[in-house]
Amino acid sequence: ALLITDECINCDVCEPECPNDAIYQGEEIYEIHFHLCTECVGHHDESQCVVVCPVECIVVDTSKLESQADLQLKYEGLMSAA
Ligand code: SF4
Ligand code: SF4
Repeated sequence: ALLITDECINCDVCEPECPNDAIYQGEEIYEIHFHLCTECVGHHDESQCVVVCPVECIVVDTSKLESQADLQLKYEGLMSAA
């Protein structure tokens, strides 16, 4: 999953682009639900939020690294729950 750093300027451009509805407005800045972010695996070749963010403040959450296979499984889990 990705996470949003405190350089976020709350521009709201990323939130509508997320195919998993993983992005939300937190108390201070926008945030990403870890369990919903597949890094766009299953939907797009590139992380759509990273593509649109004007200040490049969205990065991989290195504290909880996931493999492509992990992300694919997460995607399938979300689809079966939907
Ligand atoms: Fe949503 Fe994709 Fe960004 Fe994850 S990488 S928050 S799934 S747009
Ligand atoms: Fe924050 Fe970037 Fe999303 Fe704008 S696009 S709300 S700066 S994370």
